Amino acid sequence: MPRAPQRVSPATLDASTQERILRAVDARFDEQLAFTQEVVRHPSLRTQEASAQDLLQRAMEERGLQIDRWELDPVALASHPGAGIVDVSYDEVDNVVGTYLPSVEAGRSLILNGHIDVVPTGPESQWSASPWDSRIEGDWLYGRGSGDMKAGLVANLFAFDALRAAGLEPTARIHIQSVVEEECTGNGSLSALQRGYTADAVLIPEPEEDMLVRANVGVIWCKVRVQGSPTHPREMRSGFNAIDAAHYVIGRLRELEEAWNAERAEHRYFEDLEHPINLNLGMIQGGDWASSVPAWCEMDLRIALYPGVTAEEAWAQIEARLASVTADEAGNPIRAIARRNGFFAQGYVLEEGSDAEATLRDSHREVFGAELKTFTTPGYLDGRVFTQYAGIPSLVYGPISEAIHGYDERVSIESVRRITKSIALFIAGWCGVQESSPR
Ligand SMILES: [Zn+2]
Repeated sequence: MPRAPQRVSPATLDASTQERILRAVDARFDEQLAFTQEVVRHPSLRTQEASAQDLLQRAMEERGLQIDRWELDPVALASHPGAGIVDVSYDEVDNVVGTYLPSVEAGRSLILNGHIDVVPTGPESQWSASPWDSRIEGDWLYGRGSGDMKAGLVANLFAFDALRAAGLEPTARIHIQSVVEEECTGNGSLSALQRGYTADAVLIPEPEEDMLVRANVGVIWCKVRVQGSPTHPREMRSGFNAIDAAHYVIGRLRELEEAWNAERAEHRYFEDLEHPINLNLGMIQGGDWASSVPAWCEMDLRIALYPGVTAEEAWAQIEARLASVTADEAGNPIRAIARRNGFFAQGYVLEEGSDAEATLRDSHREVFGAELKTFTTPGYLDGRVFTQYAGIPSLVYGPISEAIHGYDERVSIESVRRITKSIALFIAGWCGVQESSPR
């Protein structure tokens, strides 16, 4: 018979057990780095995640986890208020979840979540080396997705391994999730929730500079189309230039952005941020060629919203602002129509005082020898899915990185090592552990 598991926090795990776990992370750290490099070499851009997910699936199978792999269902997602609009095909766009079931269920269950999708590279000629070459130089591991967030995704697996390598068995259910669509809709984590995956806590090792996210923004994506009136440039003034008009429309939307930023003092945890609400004009297309006044212009926008403001409320304000733009300064009529085409997500706050946070604080202190710091981030996080729709405390906590979404993205190797150790202690403290029964 396995002996009854003891509920432990990392602070009260006996020192030798703790030491065994930390040593187990070190013992396999080279292997962890090599696997991270291998995952980074797969360009898992949106809708191209399959080969990287194959790798993750194999890694989970090797660990004896119960595998669940499924294609995202746009119809099922469309019924959820927090889903992003899908304007791509979800053929072969799969989530992978590996589940560990303990022989004795005693502790608190856990989801270890991470996203496999990465953002576009921009012109590769601007990188010092290929975004997919995944090289190591000094303390940095380079490559698109290295920081955001393949290092964290792999850290989840190796933190879990460390317990068993140390001769311990977690005493609660653990789901290790590799999800898609985090960078554009949040539909990957949402689909996992719809499939029934819940737990007592979720940990997401996004690149957060060795800190814990206290609050973050929601995000809306939309495409705004402005109509023009095409004509020959010889009588240019008789036409109406849709690209010039789009420029004017953006100016009016920037007024809304500034109005929202001016309200930051009213939003808990956002008071001290300089400019938390960012409107990004991410893409623009318009016109048909140089010798016609352009008949159309389309802009892809990303705008943030405070937690507590619903996506519906923010969207209503955006639409109202666009509806109020009826003419440019010269009095030419303008019609700007917006449609959603991605994120439709509310932000969240990790409420203070949860047991999950206390356990993570203990783990962090043991490894870093310092108190865990919290901060507010003006970027989207999948943590909102678990917090908002399942009431699960979401711990978004991960390594130091540089240039995520930029050129020469990289992640700090020593930071990844410490974060992995901290996650391993967290799993032990949260799920509980018992000595592995002799085989
Ligand atoms: Zn990320």
